Amino acid sequence: MVDEQIIGRGIKDQGVIEAMLVVPRHKFVSENLRTQAYNDYPLPIGAGQTISQPYMVALMTELLQLSGKEKVLEIGTGSGYQTAILAELSSQVFTIERIAELSQAARQRIEKLGYKNVVFRVGDGTIGWPEFAPFDRILITAGAPDIPKSLFSQLSDGGVMVVPIGDRNFQILNVVKNVGGRPEVEQSIECTFVPLVGKEGWNGA
Ligand code: SAH
Repeated sequence: MVDEQIIGRGIKDQGVIEAMLVVPRHKFVSENLRTQAYNDYPLPIGAGQTISQPYMVALMTELLQLSGKEKVLEIGTGSGYQTAILAELSSQVFTIERIAELSQAARQRIEKLGYKNVVFRVGDGTIGWPEFAPFDRILITAGAPDIPKSLFSQLSDGGVMVVPIGDRNFQILNVVKNVGGRPEVEQSIECTFVPLVGKEGWNGA
């Protein structure tokens, strides 16, 4: 997986490559999908949601430019796979998931693997986690209609947010930097994520 899908497609960040080698992706999918865990596509994780394609996880993580010292907020815990990658590469991860059973399953996996730097919350991640703000990095792993304002306001000065923005079925990965309170936006590749559902996302399920 790492040679062909990650390094082969241009991911260069050594930390990201090492994290993808270390985190056991097959432990983040159900038993019947284990043989497909390292394949080049997303997989269902229940409740109509998906674990992202390995390359997408690597790219989003590389775009976050982590040095190991950052406090990171992740919206959309899902399976917890991306959470584990972030836990490898940063100092603390705060992760929010709106579907309780997904959050619980992710927490069990993360704890079993021995990560001590992850805090879980069930709720609407579009409004962020003000008690622990500001965050050096924010990663949204669901498709948003726009940059959620509350989340941008919880990004530290000089901080970076990675967020897929578009309609419900098709988005572009955006890298949003907070430069003195103003967003500086760069676009990366096209992508398709499940919708970000919440107050500053899409309505309904
Ligand atoms: N990084 C995860 C991706 C899961 S898919 C993985 O690779 O496993 C995106 C997740 O975002 C879904 O689990 C969905 O329930 C969650 N989500 C959607 N809107 C949300 C919101 N407003 N707050 C928190 N989680 C949300």
